[in-house]
Amino acid sequence: AIDFKWIRDNKEAVSANIINRSSNANLELVLQLYEKMLNVQKEVERLRGERNVVANKMKGKLEPSERQKLIEEGKNLKEGLVTLEEGLLKLTDELQLEAQCIPNMTHPDVPIGGEDSSKIRKMVGSQRVFSFPVKDHLQLGKELDIFDFDAAAEVSGSKFYYLKNEAVMLEMALINWTLSEVMKRGFTPLTTPEIVRSSVVEKCGFQPRAANTQVYSIDGSDQCLIGTAEIPVGGIHMDSILAESLLPLKYAAFSHCFRTEAGAAGTATKGLYRVHQFSKVEMFILCRPEESDSYHKELIQIEEDLFSSLGLHYKTLDMATGDLGAPAYRKFDVEAWMPGLGRYGEISSASNCTDYQSRRLGIRYRPSEQSSSNPKKGKGNLAPTQFVHTLNATACAIPRMIICILENYQQEDGSVIIPQPLRPFMGGLELIAPK
Ligand code: AMP
Repeated sequence: AIDFKWIRDNKEAVSANIINRSSNANLELVLQLYEKMLNVQKEVERLRGERNVVANKMKGKLEPSERQKLIEEGKNLKEGLVTLEEGLLKLTDELQLEAQCIPNMTHPDVPIGGEDSSKIRKMVGSQRVFSFPVKDHLQLGKELDIFDFDAAAEVSGSKFYYLKNEAVMLEMALINWTLSEVMKRGFTPLTTPEIVRSSVVEKCGFQPRAANTQVYSIDGSDQCLIGTAEIPVGGIHMDSILAESLLPLKYAAFSHCFRTEAGAAGTATKGLYRVHQFSKVEMFILCRPEESDSYHKELIQIEEDLFSSLGLHYKTLDMATGDLGAPAYRKFDVEAWMPGLGRYGEISSASNCTDYQSRRLGIRYRPSEQSSSNPKKGKGNLAPTQFVHTLNATACAIPRMIICILENYQQEDGSVIIPQPLRPFMGGLELIAPK
């Protein structure tokens, strides 16, 4: 339920937003298709009305010739309707496809510009000073015998990896520790399907049909591999009306994520940094619209608490308009220091998608009588339904977290210290030593 009327009535603001976000959306075309669709809808209504008039006339006493004439008329109207309705379906599909490119509106505090315009909102810790030459995670991994990129390249292709030995334990520990932490904060744990319908991917604001898509589609089906658990979690309450008392719904979903990384050539791709398949725990909240700003802050706080517990040095950025992605109204990324790579790397991302996804997925709630100050009442004196707001945030994306731990906790002898909170989840292991 994209609000085309709102888009038409706020054309200037929508157009400025498209420019600020460097989006390739074609607003003019969307509005043209919308007008066309309204006209065809009107014509369909008109023909349906005529057909009803003919049907009613047929109920009365008629001369045979008159009856024959009405039968002919009814037949013509029906044929006309079928053609128009087919056209309407095509037009609606075309409109939806074009409208998918229109991004969410933007929070007024978001910096306008490209990636370089993003603003640092917080900085925690400082770069660790090493008294010996630092190694990157690839070299450390080799000496510790915990990865195999060569075999993965043979078996699957580039940007795949095997984890071995303690790295496997580290991945499991990160997942279990993260889940236990977010469950303490009221999140419901989930594992999800990792193959979903393309239509759900689209409704979440991703574009599986675009030329340079990040989404792997399955040949000969209408399904895709998920790029993030945000998609199957977003889909759980698709096409439903939730009781207000259920909100907020807070989920923490573990899944594998699959990304084509199309267009990533030339960007940082070393080792585990940018891979085609990785594990992630993703937080997802569905809430009342007036609460999404404060839940956004809560999600960022949880991310920061988790990264601080692991002793990472990081900064939190308020991402600029050009770097938001279509569904986000506002997005905060955390970038952590990776000493071996010698730079900060994004480890998490928290977005408030307001009603962008819920409109497309059809997720509404019905305000209870007490909380509804809206004097307009819907059917049966109930308050009218509203779209929920959705938010998503990375709790732990494994490969980059492994990079952070190996590179920040390396010692001169090539061993790596396991951060305290993870040790109980690794059978008490304190150190990964070279073999
Ligand atoms: P996103 O859903 O794109 O905001 O990504 C969430 C997090 O997943 C990022 O902050 C990264 O930590 C991680 N991530 C994204 N893409 C990749 C990739 N290709 N390889 C490894 N980690 C990734």
